Amino acid sequence: MPYSLARQPFPPAVRHLRLAERTVLAVAGADSYVRVRLVEARPGELAGFIAPGGGDHVRVIVGTPVGAPVAVDGSGAPIGEARTETVVDHSVAEGWIDLDVLVHGATGSEAGVIGAWAARAPLGSPAVMMGPKGSVVLSGAPGEVVLAGDDSALPAVRRYLGMLGASITGHLLLETRFDLAALGVVPPVGLRVSILNPDPQRPSAALAEALSALPAPTDPLERFVFACGEQSLVAPARAALTRWGIDIERAVVKGYWKR
Ligand SMILES: Cc1cc2nc3c(=O)[nH]c(=O)nc-3n(C[C@H](O)[C@H](O)[C@H](O)COP(=O)(O)OP(=O)(O)OC[C@H]3O[C@@H](n4cnc5c(N)ncnc54)[C@H](O)[C@@H]3O)c2cc1C
Repeated sequence: MPYSLARQPFPPAVRHLRLAERTVLAVAGADSYVRVRLVEARPGELAGFIAPGGGDHVRVIVGTPVGAPVAVDGSGAPIGEARTETVVDHSVAEGWIDLDVLVHGATGSEAGVIGAWAARAPLGSPAVMMGPKGSVVLSGAPGEVVLAGDDSALPAVRRYLGMLGASITGHLLLETRFDLAALGVVPPVGLRVSILNPDPQRPSAALAEALSALPAPTDPLERFVFACGEQSLVAPARAALTRWGIDIERAVVKGYWKR
């Protein structure tokens, strides 16, 4: 049955949260994946929050890794560099949301804004969350899928796998050194899995090559494509869609970060 992809905008929302828990899910070299649970700073902050799509994401502004408050401007609006993170799970009734944050760098010298905060900020540290701005919801059952992602896309890939179900067939291309089981990424048996070695000098290059080498679908309307990684993945992924006769509006192709 052909699938459909519906893009649905949501009204703007700003929510005040606090860091309640952190769990190191997996370590790969000097990098780690840390799950942070953010809870409502005030009861009702998460009222109306939904994120039904596999790749639905929020923008988060955090304070410093030592737990300083989020800076605000004269009107009280949060200022600072926001980072975009996939919604892993949430409960409005219980007032929490989970995000899985890729942390670069060894303990004590973590890089990045949200990475260092996720690794080190004291429990109770504040965060401001904006969005989701909208949702991309896949309905129906695609005949086959191509899911391609780097480390930063693993949370979204995991959500898509959960939504697509155990009987899905197709290709799973992952450029990662992480232990997938530790991250809860369990590919169904019908997926042909390629684990590609990341090259820090050419992030997402292996993904782009593997994606470009895949055969064209028998029926372009039956192939759902998710391809997200470093920005340089976008052009080759779009070119593959064109070659395969797949409308970009029926796929999810995005640069999740820029080298
Ligand atoms: C729609 C969307 C969903 C996303 N979902 C997630 C998610 O669920 N989890 C997640 O961790 N990230 C996700 N990202 C990426 C995220 O926005 C940040 O880029 C990431 O969290 C790094 O932020 P930072 O502040 O820790 O590091 P930054 O300050 O952005 O970067 C610090 C250093 O690390 C390098 N770097 C950043 N990202 C990577 C990477 N992936 N691989 C190698 N080097 C890198 C930078 O080039 C820089 O040198 C998503 C992005 C988008 C657009």
